[in-house]
Amino acid sequence: MTQNQGSPARELTGRELATAIRTDAAERAAALAARGRPARLAVVTATDDEASAWYVRSIVNAAGKVGIECEVADLGPGAEVGEIRDRLEALSADEWVSGIILQTPLPRDAKLEDLASSIVPAKDVDGANPLSLGRLASGLPAFAPATAEAVVRLLDHHGIPLSGRHAVVVGRSTVVGKPAAHLLLDRDATVTVCHSRTADLPAVTSAADVLVAAVGRIGLITPDHVRPGAVVVDVGTNQTEDGTLAGDVDPAVATRASALTPVPGGVGPVTTALLLAHTVQAAESLA
Ligand code: NAP
Repeated sequence: MTQNQGSPARELTGRELATAIRTDAAERAAALAARGRPARLAVVTATDDEASAWYVRSIVNAAGKVGIECEVADLGPGAEVGEIRDRLEALSADEWVSGIILQTPLPRDAKLEDLASSIVPAKDVDGANPLSLGRLASGLPAFAPATAEAVVRLLDHHGIPLSGRHAVVVGRSTVVGKPAAHLLLDRDATVTVCHSRTADLPAVTSAADVLVAAVGRIGLITPDHVRPGAVVVDVGTNQTEDGTLAGDVDPAVATRASALTPVPGGVGPVTTALLLAHTVQAAESLA
């Protein structure tokens, strides 16, 4: 990788790639509709969280634009675990539903990985069922969590090589960090995963050619965490006090990295586009 000689990092935007993915999904969704098998996405939600409601509205809106029918099963924050499970099982069995997303946060006694086991893998378009993660880790076909896939697709789109490079992922959640690590490993990167107990985080992240931050802490990754010339992917989408969106990466990193994804406008739009593409792919397989 080249050293950054003080010039600002190249911005690895996701909008162009997201448009290309959505355009392809729209063409395929139209073909499915013409055959009488429209792609249909079901979003199950059991929360009154405002950020979640905003995200669901944005998915419904984006799905409509590419010709995917979308239904929201809003079970409310008081939903029982059994009620959520029953709904996921009913949607899994419904031949007219192609994709299912279980939205977080969930009620306190519900666990995503546990409930997502009730989403049949063929319709698990956000890779939430532990079987999907297991298949991914085993190199078998499965839907990857859209955010994790978006990281690799964005790097590919901008021509960032991965084979033989040292990729460091900060965050080990089952929805982002772990699947991103598996996908990077599949691309022959040498992968290190960090988390809240990692000793001397800056020392580990400074060894990265490609650094992926998926933590949920505004500005956690500072220039001290980044080797000059490294490529940095900011997955973080954190609400600031004034209601704007901020990443996990301090903007000052742009003076040290050779390339950096913006927040918003980086991983986020690609994630949404991939959810739609997965839904169309699932509908094609089920048609
Ligand atoms: P999460 O489940 O809360 O996981 C956060 C991870 O960060 C955990 O593994 C945690 O370690 C680690 N961590 C916390 N503090 C740390 C520290 N000081 N140093 C090192 N590691 C630390 O979060 P998530 O669901 O993976 O989401 C991560 C971020 O991505 C959030 O900002 C979220 O909003 C964003 N996100 C964006 C998209 C998108 O489309 N752009 C989609 C999903 C999520 P432990 O495991 O030790 O607790």
